[in-house]
Amino acid sequence: MAKIYEIFGNDAHAMTMALMEAADIAAAIPGDASVALKPNLVMAGTPESGATTHAGVLSGCIEYLQSHGFSKISIIEGSWVGDQTGRAYKVCGYDKVCQKYGVPFYDLKRDDTVTVETDLRPMEICRRAWEADFLISLPVLKGHCQTTMTCALKNCKGCIPDREKRRFHKEGLMKPIAALAAALRPDLYIVDSICGDLNFEEGGTPVQTNRMYLGTDPVQIDTYGCHLMGIDTAEVPYIALAERWGAGSMEVRDDDIITLNQPQSSLKYPAATGMVRQLTRNVRQNSACSACYAALVRGLYSAGDNGIHYSGPIAIGQGWKGKEFEGLGIGNCCQGATCCVKGCPPTGKAVMEALATFSKK
Ligand code: SF4
Repeated sequence: MAKIYEIFGNDAHAMTMALMEAADIAAAIPGDASVALKPNLVMAGTPESGATTHAGVLSGCIEYLQSHGFSKISIIEGSWVGDQTGRAYKVCGYDKVCQKYGVPFYDLKRDDTVTVETDLRPMEICRRAWEADFLISLPVLKGHCQTTMTCALKNCKGCIPDREKRRFHKEGLMKPIAALAAALRPDLYIVDSICGDLNFEEGGTPVQTNRMYLGTDPVQIDTYGCHLMGIDTAEVPYIALAERWGAGSMEVRDDDIITLNQPQSSLKYPAATGMVRQLTRNVRQNSACSACYAALVRGLYSAGDNGIHYSGPIAIGQGWKGKEFEGLGIGNCCQGATCCVKGCPPTGKAVMEALATFSKK
């Protein structure tokens, strides 16, 4: 049974090195291997906002690997549809890490792809992720407005081109996430759960939890993440699907957790609130991309803060393309709506302004 190594604190660099030392990761990497680090740079939001992997996780990984003689190290990632990876790379301070350690960063949006058989269908995967000798995934444990939570399994989605990401949304996310994670199957996962946003993948309402953990089984890691967040794994269907397709096991026993230190104060993980569910209760979602859906959630959130309450139906997603309908539509896919918030994706501000206008009609 795979083990999970867990550590508490708020120094991402030192915590990462301590986790890798404790698990003796160097012994598992073949000599002269190319090692690719895949953080979560979903968009240009700071780690402190609860959206992205702390730069210290990368520097800790690199320093550990270099001190054990590994030199072929790279960082790879492709942000979500609608954002530029290069912008996120700077906002999160990865440029300084790359410079300090002499490690290259590759934007996977510009990478070649290989077509790989999966349990769902053939998928396009970025070559640098697929061909790395040892792939280390560095996800953030956080809430997600469409999949309830995101961590190890879903972090693989940054390793596919944008056209494949759009197709994932058309397919409802759950099955393709599970199939990709089972096919790509990174060798190691180090989870940044220092201050992930418990509701929303774009950050903005981070919750300081001061925890990181390391493991090799993404299904077990995500199951444990659900436990920490107080989420029933039945609310995250891709976890059981990934288990069925051979990505790992949902079993987490007490003695599978090796804790390296104790939290300095009581750090009971707060439960995710139903805020997003409540905000989106009138949304008619049909194959919406994450960035679009996130803009809607942020717009609804800001509108509520500004005393704007729109209770009519709201349409969003690729499934509305080419259809004419009465009401408010979000994004260019909903151009057939009486009122469309244009953009691919639109901004939360544009959504909020449309809600303000529409609520008066
Ligand atoms: S407008 Fe359509 S394609 Fe563009 S981000 Fe939104 S759902 Fe995706």
